[in-house]
Amino acid sequence: LYRKHEGALGIAQRARKKGRVRAIHAKIANTRKDAMHKFSTGLVERNAAIFVGNVQAKSMVKTRMAKSTLDAGWSMLKTMLEYKSHGAGIVFEEVNEAYTTQTCSSCGVIPASSPKGRTGLGIRRWTCCECGAEHHRDVNAAKNIAARGHARLAGGIPVL
Ligand SMILES: [Zn+2]
Repeated sequence: LYRKHEGALGIAQRARKKGRVRAIHAKIANTRKDAMHKFSTGLVERNAAIFVGNVQAKSMVKTRMAKSTLDAGWSMLKTMLEYKSHGAGIVFEEVNEAYTTQTCSSCGVIPASSPKGRTGLGIRRWTCCECGAEHHRDVNAAKNIAARGHARLAGGIPVL
């Protein structure tokens, strides 16, 4: 998506054209913002509830995901999701995502085999040694976040 901008940016930087560099940065920011608007509008249209983890970009800095997370402008996306959800009258909840990566979304325990700590960061797929469920790291974490969000909803609000 940004590749053509990045190419132009490299050329302008090497040529030390400050105005051009600034203009390309602005263009990249706009492209990114447009993409986030489309993505967040689509999510709000297709769902009755949206749950997001409460992770701070700052605490992600040490992980391999830091660059992509910061690049994606997660906090901007979260803000869009929140106000669009409120505007559409759907549920928006920010959920404590501590241990959602390590917890098995099938049996609910934190098995010895789940990805942990620094070495766990490189693990994309893992199998729960307690129940045998096979997980994709991010999908498993997303399921746990969704489950926590559902648990927080009081009074049986219907959720798709
Ligand atoms: Zn399990």
